[in-house]
Amino acid sequence: MTDPRPAGTAPAISEVATDALVAWFADRGEPAYRARQVIAGVSAGRARDFAELTDLPLRLRAALAEDYRFSSITATEVIRTDQGLTEKAVHELGDGQRIESVLMRYPARGGHAERTTICISSQAGCAVGCPFCATGQGGFGRHLSAAEIVDQVLWWRRSAEHGLDPERHVNVVFMGMGEPLHNADRVFASVWILNDPARVGIGARHLTVSTSGVVPAMLRMTDELPQVNLAISLHAAHDELRDELVPINRKWPVAEVLDAGQQFAARTGRRVSLEYVMIDGVNDSPEEAGRLAELARGWLCHVNLIPLNPTPASPWSGTPREGIDRFASVLREAGVATTIRDTRGRSIEAACGQLHAQLAKRPLRSAAGLPELELVTV
Ligand code: SAH
Ligand code: SF4
Repeated sequence: MTDPRPAGTAPAISEVATDALVAWFADRGEPAYRARQVIAGVSAGRARDFAELTDLPLRLRAALAEDYRFSSITATEVIRTDQGLTEKAVHELGDGQRIESVLMRYPARGGHAERTTICISSQAGCAVGCPFCATGQGGFGRHLSAAEIVDQVLWWRRSAEHGLDPERHVNVVFMGMGEPLHNADRVFASVWILNDPARVGIGARHLTVSTSGVVPAMLRMTDELPQVNLAISLHAAHDELRDELVPINRKWPVAEVLDAGQQFAARTGRRVSLEYVMIDGVNDSPEEAGRLAELARGWLCHVNLIPLNPTPASPWSGTPREGIDRFASVLREAGVATTIRDTRGRSIEAACGQLHAQLAKRPLRSAAGLPELELVTV
């Protein structure tokens, strides 16, 4: 596994193994509990720099800052919408690459407690090239390191604006830029760090990996991350159409992807989510709904219909609401559990990879790694 960390930069503290940090302190004649103090302090999101780890002597804080980076994110800008319920961050990394993460808040309603979902990126760009997706249209940049993945979550946790305290109910979904299972080693490492109670401490059941269908890595997930949720971006129920919408289908066709999904469901007992972007006149016919119903019936899955967020480089638009409802009824009548996703963040193009292109030509406004407090509201 080659390290995608930008050349000349120190390791980011969020991915440094506890043993390595214990050894680092031992070299300085310090006890092991110091390492745990640092890890707890960084993961809790209260400190925004090594200097703010105030339970550590000053000289150790200074020494840490020499050998490690507090965050792999060097600058961030935030845009908010939906009356502040949805916020999208563009983060800059050590080598100038830009990635996005989105925070969506769902207030308590009808017996459901308040919850927050953070959508994070796993790569800068994406090599799969789905024509309806802004990230796919931009091509592949590079893999993200485990720290660059985890630091997106820590960035939101640190932000005073959000007060995301560790006890709060937070879901993390790998639905930002990139194909997580093309970067499986680092994504799996980031999941361990996010899940580790001594680190970020988010329960595995609150973590979701979304994939366009990288079958071998889906099978690996079944073995290595059986408690994490799996979402499959299906978007078409037959190969000819899926070859066009999700080009990786030419390598792993619908039947193989669903077979891997069924193995995951059978072995883990966890319900798989089939994501289906609704594109007007392309994949939303009653026939396609019928085919999808056939594929989804009889195993532990549900279908999540997502209205397409239009992108500049594609002529397609989203299926109107009535069309989505009709498609959903075909599925429901066939006994397939079906939900329709709300269109959060439309005005800030929160779907995937669209914002950073707009900001590409100018520097971001915030200081290194710190939450941006001067928010742009749209
Ligand atoms: N590469 C992974 C995860 C990132 S994309 C995957 O494809 O699953 C996360 C989700 O956003 C996918 O289901 C993807 O199809 C969807 N998506 C991408 N572009 C979109 C758009 N323009 N409108 C709506 N959903 C989109
Ligand atoms: Fe990549 Fe997912 Fe976008 Fe397809 S939808 S191009 S797999 S990020």
